[in-house]
Amino acid sequence: MSFSALFCELRPFARPWRALLVLIGFILLAEMAFNAALPFSFKFIVDDAILKKDGRLLALIVVGLAVAAILVSALGLLRDYLYARVTANAIGAVRYAMFSRLQYQSLSYFSRSRSGDLLARFSGDLNAVESALGSALAWAVIPLLDVASHTVLLFILDWRLALAALLVCPIIIIGPGIFTPRATRASIFRRSQEGGVLAAIQENLAAQPTVKALSYQLPLLDKFRRDNEDLARSTRRVSLLGALVERSAGSGTLLMQVIVTGAGAYLVYSGGMSLGELVAFQALFVTLSSSLIYLAQYVPTLVQAAGGMARVSEVLQAPTQINDAPDAVELPPFSQEIHFQDVRFGYNEETRILDGIDLVVRRGENVAFVGPSGSGKSTIVNLLMRFFDPQAGAVKYDGHDICSVTQKSLRANIGIVFQENFLFNISLRENIRIGRLGATDAEVEAAARAAEIHDFILALPQGYETPAGERGGRLSGGQRQRIGIARALLRNPPILILDEATSSLDPATEASINATLSRIGKNRTVISVTHRLGSAIACDRIFVLEHGRLCESGTHAELIKHGGLYARLALKQQGISISKDGDEAKVMAARLRSVPILADLPENLLEKLAPQFCPEEYPAGRLIFQEGDAGDRFYLIAHGSVEVLRASAADGELARVAVLQDGDHFGELALLTHAPRNASIRTLSHCLMLTLPRTHFKTLLSQAPELHERLLERYRKD
Ligand code: ADP
Ligand code: MG
Repeated sequence: MSFSALFCELRPFARPWRALLVLIGFILLAEMAFNAALPFSFKFIVDDAILKKDGRLLALIVVGLAVAAILVSALGLLRDYLYARVTANAIGAVRYAMFSRLQYQSLSYFSRSRSGDLLARFSGDLNAVESALGSALAWAVIPLLDVASHTVLLFILDWRLALAALLVCPIIIIGPGIFTPRATRASIFRRSQEGGVLAAIQENLAAQPTVKALSYQLPLLDKFRRDNEDLARSTRRVSLLGALVERSAGSGTLLMQVIVTGAGAYLVYSGGMSLGELVAFQALFVTLSSSLIYLAQYVPTLVQAAGGMARVSEVLQAPTQINDAPDAVELPPFSQEIHFQDVRFGYNEETRILDGIDLVVRRGENVAFVGPSGSGKSTIVNLLMRFFDPQAGAVKYDGHDICSVTQKSLRANIGIVFQENFLFNISLRENIRIGRLGATDAEVEAAARAAEIHDFILALPQGYETPAGERGGRLSGGQRQRIGIARALLRNPPILILDEATSSLDPATEASINATLSRIGKNRTVISVTHRLGSAIACDRIFVLEHGRLCESGTHAELIKHGGLYARLALKQQGISISKDGDEAKVMAARLRSVPILADLPENLLEKLAPQFCPEEYPAGRLIFQEGDAGDRFYLIAHGSVEVLRASAADGELARVAVLQDGDHFGELALLTHAPRNASIRTLSHCLMLTLPRTHFKTLLSQAPELHERLLERYRKD
């Protein structure tokens, strides 16, 4: 970004203050006139007053200058005040424009951007622009005006000497001309590195439990040190280039002064110039040089600002991807059906997440989307909400393509409960009211009652005025869900969407919230997304997704009879029973046969093995074991989900390689050997596990030694 681009970008934000800027301009002209008059007056003081001994003229000039000085100082103060108002308002307007742009960005924008980097654009980058603007008058505009006026006066005093002085100008310009573009590029680069470092810090603050659990400090520190050194390196480069700009201009100015002093003295000596003219010339020339030096010193600030503004503009000009069509209509209240018409979608051009999805959800139906993790269930919700647009096909509500209706009217029809509902750190009452701004207190409380959270809220010392804490941290997961449900209900939406609304809760809380949900879902169209089939059994229709395709649909009974993916998933999740209060679980012997390592065990051994599994509960975010630990037990997930993490060979960064859920198992190799674990496992939600220690398994296998050998043989081969 060049300097002119910087001003072009800023101009619209200063436009409302045009009148003030014009006034400031007039004051600046007055200041310029005074700055020029002061040194120029030496010509008259020396030649006409001192040399001619005219005391009256001398007094007149001095008094005149004094009055002008007082006046100009007062005006200068006014100018400072007005200018501070203009800059503060203009920067405020830029900040507001950035924030407002973000509110209308699509979700894909946020998944591409790093929040720390975005924050850096609001702080560091905008500050750089602000400080350049703030010092622009004193360091750039006034010096520029002085350079212009003084140059004219120099020519009036003696054009030969003035020309000689100006000949040095190219020297002053060459240096900055070479270094300024480089300095600007270096500054933009440095700012992006700074954004990267801030983003890393921000991520790190949120990741502390994981960092500690995995003892991940050293690789993090190592990476941070490298990034930090890179940042220091580019900071040095920016400073050096800035200094070069400043120095190269400064040395040119010194050279000019020497030339002018010599040539001027010679002219007076040889009678080509009066003494007063030389004194005035010198005085003008000294201010002119210092103005040039001011300008040169201002360049680095301007360079920083140009770098900052380039990054601010990226935010301001990033195209919004989900926009209301120019002729968008209001979607009337939902009355008939939602139609996914041959929808194809991917989050980017290369990958296809949903393909050929064609289905209808009729008004009043209660449907569920189920399928393995990553099969595209939440993506269906994203399209239903128009968080993203399909690449082909259409999503239609009552025959209206949702791309042709306003987003506001579409979302007014929908209440949604996410797996994690974001609570702002404001009172619980206002948190619920977000569902429908303008709802009365009585309506908020009615929604809370329906979500069965009213009594809990009343029991709090501050009741509805209790702040939720950062991210709702003062409430439990189940309570946050209920606030989310109250929020959704406040809209009294014809359509209710539940995206894994109870998946991260423990079994007892899940059951109680499911009961609430099925009560409030009556007389509405309910679309729920869940990997837990138990929540879907009662639905009118179940859509089964696999790899982004709709592979089956029907009622629970029909799908079980069909014997496809749903039946297989059901089998995996059944066969494990969880007690009512959710802390006990049992696995049936027949169910164990679907674990490959146990598949060959005879019936009687499985019967003995099943009761040996013991239930273990883990909270969300807990590390169950770490890559490299010696394995000593096998895990079967009764309820909950975990992620499988592996450190990459290249840089040691942990990456998620899979998500395992209800009915999945891991760590089976530990039943046979105490080989180190080949991955780390961390819970994503509250988990109830069934675990089997190797010692138990070994005791049992000692009854069938040849089987043990066979199993070992097979696993050695894998
Ligand atoms: P599910 O809800 O069935 O577990 P999702 O619909 O969330 O699955 O995800 C389907 C696939 O899309 C996954 O492979 C996931 O990695 C990918 N995905 C989900 N959200 C995004 C996103 N914002 N950007 C890129 N890929 C995504
Ligand atoms: Mg999902």
